[in-house]
Amino acid sequence: MSSRSPVRLYCAAVFLAGIGLSLLALPDARMGWIVHMPLSFALLSAGVLLGEMLPIRIPRRGGEDYEELTLSGAFALALLITGGLGPALIAQGVASIVQDVYSKKPPWRVRFNLGQYFVAMLVAWLVVRLFAVDPRLDILHPISSGQLPAMLAGSVVFALVNRLVVGVAVALYQGVTVRAHFRENGVFGMVTGSVILLTAPIVLAAASYSVAIVPLCLAPIVAMYNSISQSARSEHLARHDSLTGLPNRMFFQQTAESILEGAESGCVLLLDLDRFKDVNDTLGHRVGDLLLSHVAVRFREVVGNLGEIARLGGDEFALIASGCSRDQARELAQSVADSLRDSFQLEELVVDVQASVGIALFPDHGTDIETLLQKADVAMYRAKESSADIEFYDERHDHHSPSKLALTGELRAAVSGPQLVVWYQPQLDLHTGQLTDIEALVRWEHPGRGLLAPDAFLRMAEQTSLIKPLTDRVLRTALGQVAAWRRLGLDPTVAVNISTRSLVDRDFTGQVMAALNEAEVPPASLRLEVTESALMADPVTSHTVLHELDELGVKISIDDFGTGYSSLAYLADLPVSEVKIDRSFVMKMDGHAKENIIVSSTIDLAHHLGLCAVAEGVEDPAQIRRLEALGCDVAQGYAIARPAPAPEATQLLLGGGFDADAATFESGDTESPSERLIVSSAIPKQEVVRWS
Ligand code: C2E
Ligand code: CA
Ligand code: CA
Repeated sequence: MSSRSPVRLYCAAVFLAGIGLSLLALPDARMGWIVHMPLSFALLSAGVLLGEMLPIRIPRRGGEDYEELTLSGAFALALLITGGLGPALIAQGVASIVQDVYSKKPPWRVRFNLGQYFVAMLVAWLVVRLFAVDPRLDILHPISSGQLPAMLAGSVVFALVNRLVVGVAVALYQGVTVRAHFRENGVFGMVTGSVILLTAPIVLAAASYSVAIVPLCLAPIVAMYNSISQSARSEHLARHDSLTGLPNRMFFQQTAESILEGAESGCVLLLDLDRFKDVNDTLGHRVGDLLLSHVAVRFREVVGNLGEIARLGGDEFALIASGCSRDQARELAQSVADSLRDSFQLEELVVDVQASVGIALFPDHGTDIETLLQKADVAMYRAKESSADIEFYDERHDHHSPSKLALTGELRAAVSGPQLVVWYQPQLDLHTGQLTDIEALVRWEHPGRGLLAPDAFLRMAEQTSLIKPLTDRVLRTALGQVAAWRRLGLDPTVAVNISTRSLVDRDFTGQVMAALNEAEVPPASLRLEVTESALMADPVTSHTVLHELDELGVKISIDDFGTGYSSLAYLADLPVSEVKIDRSFVMKMDGHAKENIIVSSTIDLAHHLGLCAVAEGVEDPAQIRRLEALGCDVAQGYAIARPAPAPEATQLLLGGGFDADAATFESGDTESPSERLIVSSAIPKQEVVRWS
């Protein structure tokens, strides 16, 4: 923090005010009392010091931030009234410096604390003098002489000034309005602070009776200390998540409201760990919990004072920051996402985890925390779908937005009409050099939005019941196409992607059987691609469904392999015939030693388990050579062919062979259909216009 920041300037001003006012009051300081009454001074000063050294920590907004409530005031006020201003300032000043230096506070905080105590003490002193029946407080019997109102007024004023001066500093430090700060933190501290100071007359009465019994006053004060600490702790528990120590949802919402109140701009980030459910299911809840608490520590470290982070529940975290632009919000999101880059060492296990981050901006996307959280949630889901780490809220992805609701209605109609089409991407058999198998990929020819890729509408289909007719439609179309190819003398196996919903649907096998019968295609010509996470969603049912499909004679492939947490050993128990190594590994193969090892050992493991290894996302012809050398069986990707409509795909299958060296087709066609598609695409590496 710069020494010119408002909070630093304010603290410096408080220090100067405290010192300046004390100098002005010097003639009334009555330092001589210390010499006359050394025992009283020593005992009461010891009380002040003890009170300072044992502060009660009252949790403030945010995770590790505490406000300290000290018991020193009771003794300091007793000193003020019996001894006078000078002895009280000396005892309180020394105790404050000792405590601050002991707890390694920076010099500006030490000066501030000294200044704020001096200011509070001086104001209390003025009030005591104003209300006192006799200015010579020490020689009168403090309680019976009618001095009690003066003492009580002094105590309350001391507590109030102290809270006010400190509260302003904290509000400036946290960038919230003073009003918001006091609304949230003020009441508890203010009440307890005053209660503590009301014990000053007791100390005083004891001191005026006999200094020797002053130490006995410690007993009730310690009891009070305990009960206040206890209630501070329960208050903390009610507002924080016990696993991570971060603020909980309720507390986050309160904090966020006050932050937004004083802000001109800001952002709300929603963070969700990717595939955390897999960690829990495969490694157990204990490891899952351990992972969450480690993740929270990293998050808290990177967020620091930039914002407030909370755990909303499960693997979901939220962050709010004020005064940030769109770019700064992105930077913040990036640094939070990056904090997970290094693996977590949990006991004997090394676990990798990533987060998807959704960002909603204040005030552009909403002005209250409820709305901002909901918008950030939409953005976060979008990030998960698009496998981009970070996404800003965009109305077009909002399923609750009017346009999205309209799109759902349109999809309902499209599923049974001609707009839903199937494109095909051939797979290259690396042993024979032939394009034999092919993957069916759904597309939506939307009349207004152009050709939509699956990620623009699949989630919507999965959230509604539309995924069932959609899968059925793709299955029937793909099998119908296989029948047509068989009539041409081609015999490819077609791979169809199956979503989680189908895998846990006990009717699914019947649906597949009906589609095979209708197309009159043998089950062996169909391969169903399922992902690890789909298998893990409901392992028992998916296990049953897969076995039924296997008995039918349909082949099963594990898609996006390596992105989930299932082990190959678990997969070996399933009737699986191939694994498709996820394109995130294949694409990074050149130059990335780690990805090379992952790809080559996955190929080896697959072979040991009797499975076929397929590499997807092969974009560079050189990778084909490398995969061949590693013993990979099949390759799929833009380097071989992009997904294309059935007629082009037929041309490719008829052409058959593929020369990796020349990366051209041997069909004799100078311009292959796939090349034509690439050329006609305005967006590199993408064959379809995405509506996103
Ligand atoms: P997937 O199963 O991993 O399918 C491969 C995706 O990678 C396809 O995207 C394909 O166009 C793309 N791709 C192929 N080669 C390359 C390459 O070399 N580089 C890169 N960067 N990408 C490549 P698409 O068609 O957009 O499909 C996305 C996902 O949507 C699929 O991922 C699959 O999970 C899902 N999907 C597609 N069609 C269906 C369907 O009919 N039903 C279901 N349930 N899901 C489908
Ligand atoms: Ca696939
Ligand atoms: Ca895949």
